[in-house]
Amino acid sequence: VGVLVDPVQRFVNFARVAQEGLPGFTRFMQIMDLQPEIADAPHATPLTGVRGRIEFRDVSFAYAEDGEHVLRGLNLRVQPGETVALVGPSGAGKSTLCALIPRFYEVTAGSILIDGHDVRDVTLASLRRQIGVVPQDVYLFAGSVADNIRYGRPDATDAEVEAAARRAHAHDFIRALPLGYDTEVGQRGVMLSGGQRQRLSLARAFLTDPPILLLDEATSALDTGSERAVQAALETLRGHRTQLVIAHRLSTVRTADRIVVLTEDGIVEDGTHAQLLARGGAYAQLYDSGQAV
Ligand code: ADP
Ligand code: MG
Repeated sequence: VGVLVDPVQRFVNFARVAQEGLPGFTRFMQIMDLQPEIADAPHATPLTGVRGRIEFRDVSFAYAEDGEHVLRGLNLRVQPGETVALVGPSGAGKSTLCALIPRFYEVTAGSILIDGHDVRDVTLASLRRQIGVVPQDVYLFAGSVADNIRYGRPDATDAEVEAAARRAHAHDFIRALPLGYDTEVGQRGVMLSGGQRQRLSLARAFLTDPPILLLDEATSALDTGSERAVQAALETLRGHRTQLVIAHRLSTVRTADRIVVLTEDGIVEDGTHAQLLARGGAYAQLYDSGQAV
């Protein structure tokens, strides 16, 4: 059940329903078949003032108790402000790795720490407020374009919503919609392209301005012009926040502070573009092949 839904995508849905209160939450748990045991620990304290250090310590994970492990004894450290590109074959566990950070799933063994705090020791709401997610396939809920951008920060002004949309290169296409920012989207509303939905999702992330950003890039979703603009917008975020990018574009991979190659055998390479090219291993082969990573 639920295997058709990307783990990061599920998290985004989750974040929204979590805001709608208990009835929505219960319904959502049923629909998405989520682990009901993920809840605040009795001693949980809010996570605040996050600098953005992420640490995986000997993390193992399987979706089902008797199921195959997706991650085994994985160790990874990401420093505050660092941009790390996560590359590797489909099914290697890149989306799963990202979904564990907001504790969308519970690790089977090991621990994940943010600024040294085990994610199981902090409240879920405070943890998830610190983490922005831009999934490959963006989910929009019934409501206006502005509602969809604003959902992570309901108190944002119209001017702030528009500024975020401009940064995400979404303002022009929004203006061209029948009712602009008031246009209804979602199942009953206007149909937006994958690239347009992704730019709305980026606008959400810009508006909430979280210290940690998880980005599942989609090469196909954006036309070349928007892709360049979005890339430039993301560049402005670099250094100010920790970014973990499941990277498909060579341009992102090349310019990341670090590249981590994840395969079914775990993390097989970790270093800068130049280091990994010189190493002549998995990354170099991937890169030489010239295909989208
Ligand atoms: P990647 O993002 O690198 O393509 P994923 O993290 O999506 O890989 O998937 C890793 C493995 O976990 C795959 O074998 C996939 O089939 C499996 N998987 C992903 N999501 C679920 C789920 N919700 N339930 C069970 N298995 C899943
Ligand atoms: Mg994935």
